[in-house]
Amino acid sequence: MAHIPDARFGTLAVHAGQTPDPSTGAIMTPIYQTSTYVQEAPDVHQGYDYARVGNPTRTALEGNLAALEGAEHGICFASGVAAIDAILKCLKPGDHIVSTDDLYGGTYRLMTQVYEPWGLDFTFANLSDPADVDAVFTDKTKLLWIETPTNPLLRVFDIAALAERARARGVTVVVDNTFASPYLQQPLALGADLVLHSTTKYLGGHSDVVGGAVLTSDDDWAERLRFLIKSAGAVPGPMDCFLLLRATKTLHLRLERHCDNAEAVASFLKDHPKVGHVRYPGFEDHPGHEVAAKQMRRFGGMVSFTLADDTIDTAVSFMQATRVFALAESLGGVESLVSHPASMTHGSIPADVRRKAGLPDSLIRLSVGVEDVEDILADLSQALDSITIAASPEAEVEAA
Ligand SMILES: *Cc1c(COP(=O)(O)O)cnc(C)c1O
Repeated sequence: MAHIPDARFGTLAVHAGQTPDPSTGAIMTPIYQTSTYVQEAPDVHQGYDYARVGNPTRTALEGNLAALEGAEHGICFASGVAAIDAILKCLKPGDHIVSTDDLYGGTYRLMTQVYEPWGLDFTFANLSDPADVDAVFTDKTKLLWIETPTNPLLRVFDIAALAERARARGVTVVVDNTFASPYLQQPLALGADLVLHSTTKYLGGHSDVVGGAVLTSDDDWAERLRFLIKSAGAVPGPMDCFLLLRATKTLHLRLERHCDNAEAVASFLKDHPKVGHVRYPGFEDHPGHEVAAKQMRRFGGMVSFTLADDTIDTAVSFMQATRVFALAESLGGVESLVSHPASMTHGSIPADVRRKAGLPDSLIRLSVGVEDVEDILADLSQALDSITIAASPEAEVEAA
């Protein structure tokens, strides 16, 4: 982009990483659908030699995402879990990782079913009180892995306070910023070393692409991750990079509407007689509200809740009755989605581990889209009208 001094978020979202195509003036970065690049002489080329190592559409996306997180370097991957995998591959057997006990199911599965057997050691702890992290750090701890707000319980962790404690011990801090997006939260400015995204979610925003990214200003980590993407090859294709470049141009606009709509949904549900407990960081009585207000611009587009009888059957009836909200995994797209974490996104976490972490089997998760709020609220209202709340909740819970 032309140098725009002190460009703000929306300006960076539209322009960062991109320059008009030098050969045609095309304002949009082309989809460089190529596997290789012609060289003038052996190893004399224009910066690209083979498309696993680099592709101009990917380079533009990496520059854009890095700018949005205030990072020096961006490394894009074929999926969010490929990005997580690359970070974990930088560790060695015997290394210890501390993470939170409310984690994206796929991250938990990768950590416990792929990397634990390879000799990495994990501790999953409730880090709501940052001081508690000191008790779980060991001499072998190399990484602190934070997700905030968490999926699906919407717990909030204090990034700055945790990062300070980790850095005092030389522990690298990774923040999975997928739920907040860089528009709402910028972990590097709060002391994190690496920010990770499933770009499949808010950054992509249109439910049409799977991708991942790591953003960092740490030169060593960037070099290691670039070496890994070259060596292990979990690269995103140029078409996917193009779709993401198009999507991030409206990130700030979409997020404002997601947040407006989620705020309205959370208040509507809170006052509804058929609804049990609503989790939304924007509520003043949410345990993480103060920290969220401090480290986030707004409170995000996700709302989780239980119904008044707290049974799986009623929750399933509700999820099948919505019309604007589609029953589907994933989040962060323009479409409103409803999901059942215990059987969908978090099905790979054993039931006892889920319950211990406080994830009720009856929990319903909403990714509130950018449709008209009146239609969203009317849909929730008709779906709630259509269900019958069981009379004896305790008996139902026992049976479940
Ligand atoms: C979806 C998700 C991931 C995994 O990303 P994929 O793009 O699906 O591989 C990681 N973390 C969080 C918080 C997610 O929601």
